[in-house]
Amino acid sequence: LDEASGYLLAPRDPILGVTTAYLADTHPSKINVGVGAYRNDEGKPVVLECVREAEKWIGGRELMEYLPMGGSARFCELAVGLAYGEDTQVLKDKRVASIQALSGTGVVRLFAEFMKRFQPEAEAYLPLPTWSNHHNVFRDANVNQHTYRYYLASTRGLDFEGLKEDLKSAPNRSVILLHACAHNPTGVDPTPEQWKELSKLFKEKEHFPLFDMAYQGFASGDTQRDNQAIRIFLEDGHQLACAQSFAKSMGLYGQRIGCISIVCAEATEAATVKSQLEYIARPMYSSPPVHGSLLVTSILTDSDLKQLWFKEVKEMADRIIGMRVALRKNLEELGSKHSWEHITQQIGMFCYKTVNGGGAQEHMEGVARSSVALDVGAVRDSYGYLTESAWCY
Ligand code: PLP
Repeated sequence: LDEASGYLLAPRDPILGVTTAYLADTHPSKINVGVGAYRNDEGKPVVLECVREAEKWIGGRELMEYLPMGGSARFCELAVGLAYGEDTQVLKDKRVASIQALSGTGVVRLFAEFMKRFQPEAEAYLPLPTWSNHHNVFRDANVNQHTYRYYLASTRGLDFEGLKEDLKSAPNRSVILLHACAHNPTGVDPTPEQWKELSKLFKEKEHFPLFDMAYQGFASGDTQRDNQAIRIFLEDGHQLACAQSFAKSMGLYGQRIGCISIVCAEATEAATVKSQLEYIARPMYSSPPVHGSLLVTSILTDSDLKQLWFKEVKEMADRIIGMRVALRKNLEELGSKHSWEHITQQIGMFCYKTVNGGGAQEHMEGVARSSVALDVGAVRDSYGYLTESAWCY
């Protein structure tokens, strides 16, 4: 409650709140760690060359009409080919229902609405921690949500035993949200062997996997390596859903371009599920935006542009990995007594460590003294943990 006006203010978003604080700060050397967006050496946003080329093709054409409710069918076909691997059997069998949606957030929201409508009793399980907006999305869709253990503070890695225990004790047929790669905010991913084990556990428990894939290509630099978790689950015959975003991988943040896909039992079921997804989208926003869809479609259809994109996404991923190595080296050379191993062990845009009690200030100062250009700072996540959160650029 705003005491002066008496109006009820909405709570500040923990991530976007950092950007607000950054903008208000007058310090000349301020660095923004609020938003997960790739930056160049000057700290500036990057527009990929393949996107510039695609824009040239789109510019001046008569392409401003509404898209259908489910967006561009061609875009969806290309997007799921990228997410699942083009020669995947479920695609050949036309068992995948997919529609274009408003980037990763919009996709997860559509999925949550779908879940509430058709599996109202099902429980959703989210990793602890996860991207804080996941909690908001499932809350607003009125889906029962829980967390499962994911991050182990003592190793700054995966709490694999805790994760398995929690998924075993969850009710059968729960919906489990998994980050396909480059987990946000921890940068901790299961190994291929651990994904295989998880796939078996999901079978036993009949859990339904929802893969949030916001960073395909951003972890290893190879889009077909970063989708290995999905491929492992598909090989084991799972039906699953995928929330795909092109915000980070193509740098199309503000274009709000993503794709929801659900693997169904058969082609007729897929057609039905698709119609239901469109039916949910219609009263929310009628049809999705056209520009991002044209950009992605142009890039993935033209083999030269596609190769250029692969090259550019690899450059971004390699640069992040290189920054991690340099940051760790610099901190160690500065004589820090802390362990910085997690900086190079974690992957993707995020570097995560919980700081309990003392040491936080010293920790942050140590990072700030490093000469590597890196966004770093202290952020309180949605659970109130003080976290180190860093975006390399
Ligand atoms: N999912 C995860 C794990 C994310 O980290 C993000 C963005 O940071 C999103 C989804 C949503 O991104 P967008 O809606 O911009 O595609």
